[in-house]
Amino acid sequence: MQQRLDQARAEVARLEREIAAAPCAEVGHRWKHLGGKHAGCADPDCMCSVPVYECEACGNCDYGENDEAREIIARCEEKSANG
Ligand SMILES: [Zn+2]
Ligand SMILES: [Zn+2]
Repeated sequence: MQQRLDQARAEVARLEREIAAAPCAEVGHRWKHLGGKHAGCADPDCMCSVPVYECEACGNCDYGENDEAREIIARCEEKSANG
């Protein structure tokens, strides 16, 4: 059993290395949280900030173009619409 476990672990390590080296087009970007930036909502006085992500593999940056940011901005607009 121990030998099979070792083999399985080696296989997992191999796949992890392969994915780490694979192009983003194949496995998708490996987004890493880089920091935050002003959300740029419709309301210029709001203090919202959205997360910015950078791909560890290719260095591509989303400049805050992500689902989390869209949600934050939508929530802010809802709030300012209500009052
Ligand atoms: Zn990438
Ligand atoms: Zn806002």
